[in-house]
Amino acid sequence: MEAARPYFDTPLAELPGFGPKRADVLAKTGIVTARDLLHFYPRRYLDRSTTTLVADLRPDGPAVTIVGTVRAMNTVVGGKMRFELLLEDERGGTIKGVWFHGVQWISRSFKKGERLAFHGKPQAFGSTWSLTHPDFDRLDADGPALDTGRIIPLYPGGQAFDRAGLSNRILRRLLYTLFKEHGLEIEADPMPPEIVQRYRLLDARVALRAVHFPKSADELDAARRRLKFDELFHLQLLLALTKGAREHVPGAVLSVEKGPLLQSFLTDVLPFRFTGAQDRALDDVLADVSSGRQMNRLVQGDVGSGKTVVAVAAMLHAVDHGYQGAFLAPTEILSEQHAANLARYLEPLGLQHRLLLGGQRKKLRAEYLDDLANGRAQIAVGTHALLEETVVFQNLGLAVVDEQHRFGVMQRAAMFAKGERPHMLLMTATPIPRSLALTLYGDLDVTVMNERPAGRKPIQTRVFSEKRRGEVMEFLKHQLREGRQAYVVYPLVEESEKLDLKDAVSGYEQLQAELRPYKVDLVHGQMFAYEKDEAMQRFKSGETDVLVATTVIEVGVDVPNATVMLIEHAERFGLSQLHQLRGRVGRGGEQSYCLLMADVKRTREAEERLEIMADTDDGFRISEFDLRQRGAGDFFGTRQSGLPDLKIADVVQDLDVLQQAREAAFALAAVDPRLSHPQHAAIRTAFQRATKGKGLGYAQVG
Ligand code: ADP
Ligand code: MG
Repeated sequence: MEAARPYFDTPLAELPGFGPKRADVLAKTGIVTARDLLHFYPRRYLDRSTTTLVADLRPDGPAVTIVGTVRAMNTVVGGKMRFELLLEDERGGTIKGVWFHGVQWISRSFKKGERLAFHGKPQAFGSTWSLTHPDFDRLDADGPALDTGRIIPLYPGGQAFDRAGLSNRILRRLLYTLFKEHGLEIEADPMPPEIVQRYRLLDARVALRAVHFPKSADELDAARRRLKFDELFHLQLLLALTKGAREHVPGAVLSVEKGPLLQSFLTDVLPFRFTGAQDRALDDVLADVSSGRQMNRLVQGDVGSGKTVVAVAAMLHAVDHGYQGAFLAPTEILSEQHAANLARYLEPLGLQHRLLLGGQRKKLRAEYLDDLANGRAQIAVGTHALLEETVVFQNLGLAVVDEQHRFGVMQRAAMFAKGERPHMLLMTATPIPRSLALTLYGDLDVTVMNERPAGRKPIQTRVFSEKRRGEVMEFLKHQLREGRQAYVVYPLVEESEKLDLKDAVSGYEQLQAELRPYKVDLVHGQMFAYEKDEAMQRFKSGETDVLVATTVIEVGVDVPNATVMLIEHAERFGLSQLHQLRGRVGRGGEQSYCLLMADVKRTREAEERLEIMADTDDGFRISEFDLRQRGAGDFFGTRQSGLPDLKIADVVQDLDVLQQAREAAFALAAVDPRLSHPQHAAIRTAFQRATKGKGLGYAQVG
């Protein structure tokens, strides 16, 4: 006999109270079964502690929630058409809601006597309070008053829900019935009891009921924590299983001892000593490559922390053991720069490298490929040209991916497929908050390099408006007289590439005239690669003093004598870009400066970005802020795809829960890497459901 379908797998359309119209609207937001509805969490709650009386409002106060009854409505036609609604709270205080958009629709949306909750930042006009386009929720006219201590859940919804007869009031009623009549059919807690106990989790069934119908604020907190834990646990379990599967791939076993080439590089060739952070990063690498397992390490180091030499050291360690190394970089400029550095470092050691770029002459490329295949060259460096199938190594042991965030997962995989699955060392100069690293790179080992070479002075950052351009130019000239060099960067926004380029070109012409006799050069994205390289080389060698550029110089470029980074239209740049650009200076012993020219008409977000830039040059703090400003979804971008959704957890705000969930998930994966133990059947089902049936599949890869 076939097992009966669990009640909560029933499509909503088949349940009383839903019907095709409501089910349809819900399906559009991904809510198809009764179970999905259980996991449709309120976005807000109302109770005494979260609402404000009109009498308590203060000018310039924070956003508030005001609950009241609709007393009057009025569509004003003269001037700018608008709809006004007067809401009266329980003490007789009144506030006006005002709508300028969608007046037709909104004016038909309310009834006199209806109870509403307004959310927003009220403004005072004389003695009248008002809220423009308030966020609002409808409350039950006959429902319990807020002062009875009940906590009322408010669901996301909006017009489509309202039109389908799915107001908050109705949703609450439908859910209430679901719990009352079928609550016992919700599956028992699938989490292994050890985990429930160890992390003091509220029972899963109780948590689901309580997130919709909390009996107290404490119960609600415990319920939310439990549901967050579950989401983050599934995410971390996915990473733990994937990582576990990959670790069964044996790696080339290298010794943990430094060989002669590496020793000599560190003590004789390098003109400086490693920083503590560089030493620790190298130690992590040596421990990985001697473990018998495949290294998969991400080194996160802020701009200028000196990742390149760590990469070189790692490759030399491979060469010491008879393997080759590869160094993959995202741009030709960077590849050229790495090749130039390698030439300096490798020559005294009697080693050879080859630079592979797209568009190289056939004959030259054939020669290089031959050298790599025969082992005549020990190290390859280059762009994605390195990834082509024709590039075959004699014995590739370790591959570095520089600025790895610029490459996709597939490209990383392509590098990994070369040779006998080389050890992988990934480098990123986009510092990622720890929370995000755990989430995005939870399947990698992470080393943080949080120290810059000794003797570096913090970069001074200032924001200027157009009015003060004269001052800025004087300062620039002063630095040039001191023998320093400067970058001047213009934004390049894809949609209007031509227009922006015009900006950069005219800026370049103006500077040329104004800064004579200093030499000004231009580099931008529409130049040929060799032209860009030549311009970079001229700047690097000191032949030119000022380099005007679009953001092509963003990553990796290293010219220690440059001390000024002047950014035009700074308000148009994102935070991580600003930070990357600023990282092009402050690379030598001299005091460096970052000057941000910004339009005075800027958004509040732009203002905050400029403020934090002026405030700190700690990349971790900056990216933490960036993440907060843009929200996790935007920050993750497309890379998040394939990972389970987070409906209630927030990787930034719930870092403590994330860490506990991670610990629990990794411990479970360690004892049962395929989730095949019978006592884990329930969590296996829950995990497969959370990963849309793919989780265990990922876990077998490797
Ligand atoms: P990033 O981490 O941004 O890639 P780089 O590897 O380009 O940084 O290093 C920045 C600069 O610092 C380079 O000029 C490099 O030679 C120099 N550098 C690296 N390590 C040290 C060190 N330990 N002491 C002094 N200078 C160093
Ligand atoms: Mg670098």
